[in-house]
Amino acid sequence: MNLYDYNTIKRVLAKHGFTFSKALGQNFLIDADVCPQMADSLNADENTGVIEVGPGIGVLTKELCRVAGKVVAIELDKRLFPVLDETLSACDNLEIISGDVMKIDLKKLIEEKFSDCTSVKVCANLPYYITSPVIMTLLESELPIDQIVVMVQKEAGERLCAEVGTRDAGAVTIAVHYYAESEILFGVGRESFMPSPKVDSVVIRLSLRKEKKFEVKDRKKFFTVVKCAFSQRRKTALNSISNTMGADKNKIGSVFSDLGIEANTRAEKLTMEDFIHIAERI
Ligand code: SAM
Repeated sequence: MNLYDYNTIKRVLAKHGFTFSKALGQNFLIDADVCPQMADSLNADENTGVIEVGPGIGVLTKELCRVAGKVVAIELDKRLFPVLDETLSACDNLEIISGDVMKIDLKKLIEEKFSDCTSVKVCANLPYYITSPVIMTLLESELPIDQIVVMVQKEAGERLCAEVGTRDAGAVTIAVHYYAESEILFGVGRESFMPSPKVDSVVIRLSLRKEKKFEVKDRKKFFTVVKCAFSQRRKTALNSISNTMGADKNKIGSVFSDLGIEANTRAEKLTMEDFIHIAERI
């Protein structure tokens, strides 16, 4: 069955009475080049386990089953299960789990499903309404995964993969940089989806660091300072931190001056080391 063919998809979905849910970010890929490229970029083999978030009608899932030893796909919309039964009946290394990726205990899932795998990766065309929460959960939970290859909205991808200290950087950039190496692999136009969204997308790859690159004594405090510094982007980092953390502006001012950081510096201009040193002294 050609799952990229518009008429085939329409026929299969109509047979199961399926209609797209905007709320669940259901824009299905219909570009035959994208899924193979995403799957191949994982460099997976028969010892690799892959978690997919949101298989939809299974276009990417099929490719993941081709490159990996085992695939576990988590789908929230139960209406897609009979569709997936039909489209992926030939995939014998696949398990589909019903649930919300934000609520499932992924650590337990990995222990239970991938104990015989030497590497576990995550690959998905993410529903846009939960892009950042999913990525942050994957990073912060310190799961035994080594790579995340996901399609996200173009602007979100540019933010996630921005260089720290540049205009595109945000709090999420610092978090990604702390946990992983990031890169934009390729762009995907809006016409590659059914229904077509109002925005373009990019596929990004996050390679999780095996060794820590940055020595952060109090991670919670570090990320609080980062979030506060970026929370008022038009203000200086100093003002933003003192306003949102409720900290004394003079004290934070002297921390900045001790560190040789200009008082009028905006958060986007601060380096990882600046954030680490500020958090240590506040
Ligand atoms: N992988 C398919 C593709 O590329 O054509 C579908 C991608 S579509 C952008 C997002 C998918 O995620 C949909 O199947 C949707 O039902 C599912 N989804 C939405 N929210 C979810 C959640 N919280 N947990 C798991 N799956 C979710």
